[in-house]
Amino acid sequence: MISRMSSPPKKRVVLLGATGSIGENTLRVIDAHADKLELVGIAARSNWRKLAGLADKYRVPHVGVFDDPAYREAKASAVFPAGTRLYGGMAGLVELARLPGADIVLVAVVGTTGLEPALAALAAGKDLALASKEILVLAGKFVMAAAKEHGVRLLPVDSEHNAVFQCLEGYPGGAGGVRRVVLTASGGAFRDWPVERLAHATPADALKHPNWSMGPKITVDSATLANKGLELMEAQWLFGLRPEQCQAILHPQSIVHCLVEFTDGAMLAQLCPPSMTFPIQHALLHPLRAPGPDRPLDLTRLLSLEFRPVDEARFPLLRLAREAMTAGGSAPAVYNAANELAVAAFLAGQIPFLAISRAVEQTLHSIVNFEPADLPAVLTLDAEARRIAAVQIATLQSNS
Ligand code: NDP
Ligand code: MG
Repeated sequence: MISRMSSPPKKRVVLLGATGSIGENTLRVIDAHADKLELVGIAARSNWRKLAGLADKYRVPHVGVFDDPAYREAKASAVFPAGTRLYGGMAGLVELARLPGADIVLVAVVGTTGLEPALAALAAGKDLALASKEILVLAGKFVMAAAKEHGVRLLPVDSEHNAVFQCLEGYPGGAGGVRRVVLTASGGAFRDWPVERLAHATPADALKHPNWSMGPKITVDSATLANKGLELMEAQWLFGLRPEQCQAILHPQSIVHCLVEFTDGAMLAQLCPPSMTFPIQHALLHPLRAPGPDRPLDLTRLLSLEFRPVDEARFPLLRLAREAMTAGGSAPAVYNAANELAVAAFLAGQIPFLAISRAVEQTLHSIVNFEPADLPAVLTLDAEARRIAAVQIATLQSNS
């Protein structure tokens, strides 16, 4: 008798933020591994036409549209394949996150909208692949506690954290043997600009990222290094580190994604080309390794890797992030909220580039630091920080 090897069941994936930059890269990973991964749920904020195309192409039965008018348009349309179930609002995202039969939920929506769905996925015992860094910045303590309580795996998708995760895989010492974690930053669009020119930087200038192709908010955050600041806070929670153990270094090539230094002085680094398909695939297939959609590094060509310290005078948002991390309590959430609003105002042409860091600094100074006791307290803090940041931004706008 010939025994037939049965292939392992496919991992069933829910993708929140399917129409964005991480969403697109995730679909490329799924295309490359159609035998291992199956999309069972997708969601976006408003782009239901694109969701309908994806539902058709990938035969996705569960589709979420967050914005209410868009959800109603989607419901009234006849473009979704027969049998598609539509979900609206936050309740819809939460339902998708705990979809029976789903194995892993990838949260890749911009901002903090993903917090409730992320917690719902953990409570339902799903593996959580996390791209949205704002979630850990805002509520790292509660998210990590929920993952522990439910015995669920949290797989970082942000490339630097995915890199650290890989360096620590198989290391039994936990954070105990780690001296520090160094995250690399490309330096973004203004890395080589004379500092005097920054006052005149436009949104179009800030959106020209030298290495990565990403959504607009995170691309501006790369130009200010607020992105690295948020990532340091993210690293602190993910790997159980003290603020001073999380550091950043400039590395213009974006090939080394992190350096993990152990207490004996040895350092491990993770290298791959600057494409999000590498960390996304690592998180989705974990613990399996397989060839992916993008080509690996070509070592037959000259490969030079540079590192330099970050000049905090050029990047005040990195200094503010370090200060917020050290202060702890409410400061990281305030930093995140103020930065989000300031970047939106900058992209809308309301405030100049240098006002982004001023808005964040002034908002941080306006809120007395405290330790939020629970998740509702975190959400209230977030709303209050946004209200105060909006006032600061309006003042900066009228002064500019
Ligand atoms: P994009 O702006 O490209 O895409 C955002 C996605 O989220 C879209 O699908 C959007 O839908 C959806 N979305 C936004 N708001 C909501 C909402 N309220 N409910 C449901 N869906 C929503 O962003 P990115 O893909 O660049 O980034 C996503 C997250 O991943 C961010 O937190 C970012 O910091 C993080 N990240 C991104 C990286 C990258 O390479 N891009 C790298 C590391 C982390 P719609 O199209 O309808 O607006
Ligand atoms: Mg990153």
